[in-house]
Amino acid sequence: MDKSSWKIGTQAVQGEYWPENAKSRVVPLEMSTTYRYDTCEELASVFDLEQDTCMYTRLSNPTTDIFEKKIALMEGGVGALATASGMAAVSIAVLNICKKGDSILVSNTIYGGSYTLFTTTFKDLGIEAIMFDPDIPEEEMLSLAKPNTRLVYGETLGNPLANVIDFEKFSNVAKRLDVPLMIDNTFATPVLCKPFEHGANIVIHSTSKYLDGHAVALGGIIVDGGNFNWNNGKFPELVEPDESYHGVSYVNKFGQSAFIVKARAQLMRNFGMTPSPFNTWITNLGCETLHLRMKKHSENALKIAQYLHDNEMCAWVKYPGLEDSQYYGLVKKYLPLGASGVMTFGVKGGRDASRKFINSLQMVALVTHVADSRTCVLQPASTTHRQLSDAELVACGISPDMIRLSVGIEEAEDIIADFEQAFAKCRQ
Ligand SMILES: *Cc1c(COP(=O)(O)O)cnc(C)c1O
Repeated sequence: MDKSSWKIGTQAVQGEYWPENAKSRVVPLEMSTTYRYDTCEELASVFDLEQDTCMYTRLSNPTTDIFEKKIALMEGGVGALATASGMAAVSIAVLNICKKGDSILVSNTIYGGSYTLFTTTFKDLGIEAIMFDPDIPEEEMLSLAKPNTRLVYGETLGNPLANVIDFEKFSNVAKRLDVPLMIDNTFATPVLCKPFEHGANIVIHSTSKYLDGHAVALGGIIVDGGNFNWNNGKFPELVEPDESYHGVSYVNKFGQSAFIVKARAQLMRNFGMTPSPFNTWITNLGCETLHLRMKKHSENALKIAQYLHDNEMCAWVKYPGLEDSQYYGLVKKYLPLGASGVMTFGVKGGRDASRKFINSLQMVALVTHVADSRTCVLQPASTTHRQLSDAELVACGISPDMIRLSVGIEEAEDIIADFEQAFAKCRQ
């Protein structure tokens, strides 16, 4: 059975589990830190990376393994590594190929937490983040790179601006630099966009968002496209012998899967940013309806964006699925099935009016979250992007009156009714 030829919805439901005779039809939850072996020799071969079986849950677990294989299948990658959070996924993915003295080219419209990780913690580790506006032309982007640049990084849909990156430009720059393109695909999910089809080499997710979909389990995942040649002189850590693993060369031993094997065998072993099997079990269950949910999130979001667009109380609305969005062309090209559920808008009257609007909502909740089944709002300048200076806020397009709206899968009419009564209170 060639599961890679299945449609994405079938992969979401059926990937990657099939029970043996008389075994549980549903993915079993194996809450165990450890695994029994018959002989010392067999267990030793697992330690030598000769066998792909579980020996300790910090490194792998049967439930987590099924979830990892599902996401790798849906993204079209060669392997995946689940992590305890989205931030853990970003950290491990970058540190797997960047070290002191390296630099990375980073879109400045990324999630605030990632922005801070790049500009402070990685900086302290000696890795320089060269932040750039993702809408600049290719040549300008290329000119920012340095000889020590090891990576180009962006988000399919930025958090919170929901700006769409021009994959062609990003992948051209990465190819001309001969470094990988790493894409955070959290807001699009593989249902709406598959970055490997547009030149990405590594994909990461905060699974805490749409993949779980119900705001239950924190998590992250790294997917390896298996489509980058690491043997180009820039990535000795993947080619030269790893002394902490009896001199294994990841490229020589694991070929296309070198990146993801090293991430697990070396960084996950050393950092231990491992998800609980319970969390990967829940996230896997959430993923079974991902294709249905992303369709509804996108449909609802378009309806709400049009409603806000035509509402006299709304100062501005930015949703890439709106025809007058500057990103509409990129949506048609890279997100033809829908532009996901996140948008930003401001209420006429500035910061205070936006705050009054949020405080007046009855069904739609104010929460520090985004991308789950229930519609929610948040003010980025006072929350997710609070650590950024005013200048940084302006540079990455966050205005003080901005409301980030994450449209859920309720019925659009009821969300609009809540907005109507909140706008009415703002008028008083
Ligand atoms: C939330 C988020 C993260 C961080 O994920 P956590 O699971 O909260 O650690 C990273 N990238 C994007 C785009 C996000 O939205």
